[in-house]
Amino acid sequence: MTTSPFLPFTRPSIDEATIAAVGEVLRSGWITSGPKVRDFEAQLSALFGGRPVRALSSATGGMEIALALAGVGADDEVITTPLSWVATANVVLRAGARPVFVDCDARTRNIDLELIEAAITPRTRAIMPVDLAGLPVDRDRLYAIATARRLRVIEDAAQSMGANWAGRMIGSCGDLVSISFHANKNITSAEGGCLVLNDEEEARRCELWRLQGAVRHGDSWEGMDVTLAGGKHNLTDIAACIGLGQLPHLAAFTARRRELARRYFARIDRSLGCELPLEDYTQSNWHMFQLLLPEGAERGVFISEMRAAGIGIGVHYPAMHLFTLFRRLGFGPGDFPVAERIGRSIVSLPMFAVMQDGDVDRVLAALPAAVAAATKTRAASGARRA
Ligand SMILES: *Cc1c(COP(=O)(O)O)cnc(C)c1O
Repeated sequence: MTTSPFLPFTRPSIDEATIAAVGEVLRSGWITSGPKVRDFEAQLSALFGGRPVRALSSATGGMEIALALAGVGADDEVITTPLSWVATANVVLRAGARPVFVDCDARTRNIDLELIEAAITPRTRAIMPVDLAGLPVDRDRLYAIATARRLRVIEDAAQSMGANWAGRMIGSCGDLVSISFHANKNITSAEGGCLVLNDEEEARRCELWRLQGAVRHGDSWEGMDVTLAGGKHNLTDIAACIGLGQLPHLAAFTARRRELARRYFARIDRSLGCELPLEDYTQSNWHMFQLLLPEGAERGVFISEMRAAGIGIGVHYPAMHLFTLFRRLGFGPGDFPVAERIGRSIVSLPMFAVMQDGDVDRVLAALPAAVAAATKTRAASGARRA
């Protein structure tokens, strides 16, 4: 039995000053979108080289708005990866369009850029890349394809806050960039997100999609008009206040995650046969540290063995084209072998900014027995079937 407290696979770090500031917002009489949201947007914009930014209640909402801004609708196609949180493809379906999956690159676990050209048809409108675990997709190659084929790019950069491509922070370049501040992400507003836009005109249209399409004249609703059927995606000042309290820590959080990744790499027992992520300490923000279990290992057994040792393990993500919703569209097993192999063997080890060096050691100490149990079960059930 373990005596140490349970080690979750992630947890947010909220400082006392932020907790106090949230109390002030609650006492102020203005708790939904207001001055804190405007301040949060201004600080994010400064971080992203002055590009327009609009805060939203979720990155899912941000991607829905981005698709609307890009004019993606009925019968259009959007190219994306099967290895993501299902939001990435759900928003495409909700826009009336069709997600067109292409397989992943086994090395980066991100969309295989080599395969994009072959997936482009006359109906293709946009590419939605995902930086899985915060490892950026090659932006040079991505935008070379998009520019040559006149496609919009909606970056699902939900996990990418603090990551960079060739020294440029994700969000500071590119087309439409959607970032999440969900509780599990590198910085959080509990729930929330932001969309980085190309110009002020696009930002104004984003505001319409964000809140019911309502246009105000000055500070008053007198003479108001509605020009499109917008949604309800505004962020609260309570959430923005949490986000504002996180921003000053971003660089330190990223640096700490890179240190923890380094420790995992330095100390992991490579004879266990697990496949390690791409080793990168300059571009990735190490949103997650993910291993692939040896082929055939029973992931459920591994997870329960680790849990019994007091360690939380995540699964991000099963290949989404195998979910019922996407099988109904005609996708099935064998379509994307790399994504399928990763999707059935991937596990997220604990990784968060306030994790201690000793926590990494604890995870690695528990790993051999859990991997052995997961592989032994497979051998035993194979024997039973024989
Ligand atoms: C978290 C996440 C989302 C959704 O973000 P929300 O803010 O929860 O809507 C979308 N895509 C990816 C890759 C994510 O990790």
